[in-house]
Amino acid sequence: MLGSDEARSLHADHPPIDLHADTLMWSRWIGYDLHKAHEPPLWRAALGGHVDLPRMRDGGMAAQFFGLVSLPLADRVKGMARVVHEQIDALEAQMANKPGAVRLVRKAGELEKTLHDGALGALLGIEGAHALEGDLDNVTTFARRGVRYLGFLHFSANEAGFPAYGKGRRDDSGLTRWGFELVEKCEDEGVLVDLAHVNKAGFLDACRVAKKPPIVSHTGVLGAFEHWRNIDDAQLRAVADKGGVVGVIFCPRFVGGDGLEPVVKHMKHILNVVGEEAAALGSDWDGFIVPTRELQDPRGLPLLTDALLKAGVSRGAVGKILHDNVMRVLDEA
Ligand SMILES: [Zn+2]
Repeated sequence: MLGSDEARSLHADHPPIDLHADTLMWSRWIGYDLHKAHEPPLWRAALGGHVDLPRMRDGGMAAQFFGLVSLPLADRVKGMARVVHEQIDALEAQMANKPGAVRLVRKAGELEKTLHDGALGALLGIEGAHALEGDLDNVTTFARRGVRYLGFLHFSANEAGFPAYGKGRRDDSGLTRWGFELVEKCEDEGVLVDLAHVNKAGFLDACRVAKKPPIVSHTGVLGAFEHWRNIDDAQLRAVADKGGVVGVIFCPRFVGGDGLEPVVKHMKHILNVVGEEAAALGSDWDGFIVPTRELQDPRGLPLLTDALLKAGVSRGAVGKILHDNVMRVLDEA
């Protein structure tokens, strides 16, 4: 395992949980095998090949949240729910192939037991409410299959609202009426509302009415780097006020440079503005990104831990960023 002894001991006590990787998209497309250690095929690990169980172990991780992606072509949303189901099928098939290696978990207690039994945790989140095909009951269906968060938007407007960037963008419009109903439905089903990719108006709408902690599964912050993908301090406060968490993305394009330093800068901005209860990891591994140099895959996480410590973040705060904050939110939802 990379990193210092201190990083290793921190990971042993607070094993990292990452909020967003699109690995199961690749499992569905090309049979990407979670059980096998991969060498990312492209230069600088571009696009994918980032997450698998052996490298999660090498990075001292506890669990990975897998984003379930469906990309609507034109306005065709029919069949999007099926695409999500097929990614869950792909995880279940892999769990059956090698029992005991990874377990689908929903709650903090389940993850603790899983780790105690020597397995790794997999958690599920959906990226884009278009996957519900306009049917609130699909939230129930997906929650029953283990989905723990729903990202309301992706790269196109849908029944719930408007994206921060992409097709049908409308900066002056917040959540639709259906979007507000969706917040309530998610909270009833114990599904976290994920505000990554949501435009600012919709983002603040969701936070205003939220009774449970909302999350932003993968993002940068504008206070650290100016980019359309990033959220501002008002958005940070809105999430933190409801007890939510914000996962920092590992993509140089969004954090404003390569290497650990920009990622640390985004983390520190969150700590400075809203405190240590709100920061988390939101890599976006396997999501068509070129990850930052040292964080090409989970093996690099202890290096991030060392960089945070070196930047003056306390051991306690690093433990919260890696593990505790996400566990808290899982319990509260
Ligand atoms: Zn995304």
